[in-house]
Amino acid sequence: MSLAEGIRKHGFKKWYERELLQSHAHMVLAFLAVVGLFAAFEAASQFKGLADQAFNLGAGLLCAAIGLWGLRRYLRLLSKAEAAAHQADCPHCGTYGRLELVRADASGDEVEVRCRKCGHGWHMSA
Ligand SMILES: [Zn+2]
Repeated sequence: MSLAEGIRKHGFKKWYERELLQSHAHMVLAFLAVVGLFAAFEAASQFKGLADQAFNLGAGLLCAAIGLWGLRRYLRLLSKAEAAAHQADCPHCGTYGRLELVRADASGDEVEVRCRKCGHGWHMSA
């Protein structure tokens, strides 16, 4: 979910929380995929038939691909959320995360926001 869509639907703090939960769910997926990859390594010595070894190799490659995808997605979501969080302090009054969306670009990751406490506006990018 883009920053603009998240602020519009849920508010900044809820968007940030959801991005962190989603990113850590991908980290758990990457961890489980690594466990599956090690299980495939462990099972490789026990399979003697060609079909079983081919299946085990396929399962190992699938686990590796899922693990890399999960790790990449985890880091991407986490860095996006953290980048936005570091810009969520109002430059005028210092209030954190109490902002409303003024306008956004087409991607939704470049936004103009306004502080709900003092009305000061600033630019954020995720
Ligand atoms: Zn303010």
